[in-house]
Amino acid sequence: MMSQKLKIVIDKAACCGYGVCAEICPDVYKLDANGIVYVDDAIVPEGMEDLAREGAEACPQAALAVVDA
Ligand code: SF4
Repeated sequence: MMSQKLKIVIDKAACCGYGVCAEICPDVYKLDANGIVYVDDAIVPEGMEDLAREGAEACPQAALAVVDA
């Protein structure tokens, strides 16, 4: 079965830099010098889908969404 590609959508204005996402899924969610989230690549690497979703759902600001790419 082919897995559906997912991508991350970030609402930077909503991010308050709690870093929960990066704690849960550091391979996808990075924090810049100001503690604001960014991703190197919006496409979720294969095998990281569940962790990426978990990280997004754990964001207290709802600043992250994982959607079909
Ligand atoms: S969990 Fe949310 S508020 Fe915290 S750094 Fe990640 S995106 Fe920003």
